[in-house]
This record gives sequence, C-alpha cells and structure tokens, in this order.
Amino acid sequence: MSELEQSNLSFAAIEGHEKPVTILKRALANKTLAHAYLFSGDAGIGKKMTALALAAAVNCQNAGPEGGCGACPSCRKIATGGHPDLHMLAPDGEEIKIDQVRQVQADLSLKPFEGAKKVLIVDGVDCMNTASSNAFLKTLEEPPGDALLLLITALPQSLLPTIRSRCQEIRFQPLPRRTLAQALMRKRGLSEEDAWFLAALAQGSMGRGLEMDVEQEKAERGRVLEFWSGLAHQGPGETLALAESYAKDRDRFDRLLAIGVECLRDAMVYRATGEARLLVNARAEEQYRQWGERVPFSGMVADLELFVSSRGLLDRRVSAQLVAENLFFKLGRG
Ligand SMILES: [Zn+2]
Repeated sequence: MSELEQSNLSFAAIEGHEKPVTILKRALANKTLAHAYLFSGDAGIGKKMTALALAAAVNCQNAGPEGGCGACPSCRKIATGGHPDLHMLAPDGEEIKIDQVRQVQADLSLKPFEGAKKVLIVDGVDCMNTASSNAFLKTLEEPPGDALLLLITALPQSLLPTIRSRCQEIRFQPLPRRTLAQALMRKRGLSEEDAWFLAALAQGSMGRGLEMDVEQEKAERGRVLEFWSGLAHQGPGETLALAESYAKDRDRFDRLLAIGVECLRDAMVYRATGEARLLVNARAEEQYRQWGERVPFSGMVADLELFVSSRGLLDRRVSAQLVAENLFFKLGRG
C-alpha cells in the first residue's frame, strides 16, 4: 500500500470540513462519541469519507490524534472495504428496502469480530421508505452492543423527524472554491486556471470536481459564447431555424440557458470588479472585457432577466419554440 493510500482514511486527508472533523476528533479524545450521527450536506462533499475516517479511527490498533494509522490490519481492511465489523447500507435501486434493514440488524446483533466497535454507515438514509424507516428506528432507539451508526444524507429535511431527532446532526458545508481548487490541482494535476474553473462548476463538491471533464466543460462554454455572440449577425430565417433546432431538444436548450446565465453573471462580475479570479470561466476574460465595453450594465441586467424568465417559462411547459424565438430575436437585436 502506498503512502498516499495509507493516509487516505485519516482525518488529515479530509479536504476542508474543519468544524465537523474537530467535533469528531474531540468526541473521540474525550470518549464522548454519540451512538448515532447524521452527516448532512450536499452530495459529493466528503461526508462518506469522513464517516470512513471515523470508522477507521474507532477500530484502529494505533489510533493517533488524526484518527486511523492507515497501516494496521484494521485500517487496511476498512480502506479496502473488507472489514467484518464495518457494515454499509445503501439504496438497492431507488430505495433502501426493509429486507436490507433486517439483514443489517442481524449483522449488528453479533459481537464484533475483531474490531473494537461495529460501525454501520447508511449512505443515503433519505432513501429509506416508510417501512424501512420504521424498522430502522428500533436500531436507532436501542443500538445493539455499542454499535456506531453513521447516517449520511443530502436531504435531511426529508427524513422522518423520529429518525433525525435520535441522531447528533453534523452539517457539512460546500467546500470553499480555493480549498477545492487546491485539492484538484493536487489530485488531478490540473493547471491553476483549470482547477479554479472546475472548482466553481463543482459548487463545493469534491465528488463533482473529481468527475467533471475539464476539456468538455471548456469546449461547451466556448461554443455557447460563440453562439450568443453570433446571434447578432444572423438573419431572421437563420434565427428561426436555430430556435426550431433548440426547441426540439429541451435539455440542450436548458443547458444553453444555464451556461448563458453563468456567462452573464461572469460578465457582470467582471464589469463591476475587473477581477478574473472571481469569474467562473476566467478564460473568457477578454470576451467579457469587450462585452463590457459594448453593453451598458443595465443592458446586462435586462439580458439576465430575459434568461431567467425564459427558464421559468420552460419550467412551466410553455412552448420551447416560442421561448427560443423570443429570446433569440431579442438578444440578436441588441
Ligand atoms: Zn490503524
């Protein structure tokens, strides 16, 4: 196992999330760990990794201030998913079914095989249906042995209040752009510009930042900017044809609008601050600068309102053809 892999499950390897990690480390040090935690926050921001780090810390044979050592047999088994005292529960398809809950209850009722503590990680506890939730409530009320229950959700408000109230909730905030960008430079070997760009698109989610295709995102923005700036040079027939083509594919049209809103936001920020660092897409700085020279700020605000209202109309199932024609002609005129 490489040094990097060894350190993967220590608290030190978690990007950001200082507050949740501090709460957990303090509870470990003071031996005041709750029996059930609810880790809530957006998808892909590091809740599961923190849960695994805590599972490693409570079972590690040489645990230190940063939790698991990463090298002992227990840490290795947790890292590879083969620890007999670590149980994972996740949706089977859309739901966590009652049979899955019963199986895990049977597993938890056994004594720990080798670890100090049995740990159950429920990834997506909001996916429990009513029957599963009610069955699981028993486990939350009377956890077998001294099992540690770690529930993960991006939708805490959709949980039964009886479930939520029996856990200590720890909220995970989206990662700051700087934290995410630095991690992406390190983990993906991205340039600073690409890392800042993806960090903005990922909106605080490490998972999204790691998955997104930077070249594809860049190319798409290039195409969209070209499209919007080209509208002014189209004749009415060409504009109608474009509207028709986008109206046929609502997802593609919505994407065009979403990126349009992002570009306008960038152009307005640039106009107001002149700082490329604050842009989602700093590569377009020069275009935004030129745009700002041509269009008054009030014109940008009006365009933004047009985009936002177009998206609203699409949501209300107004004819995409009408929405596209209206938008394209108005923008083309400017
Ligand atoms: Zn260890």
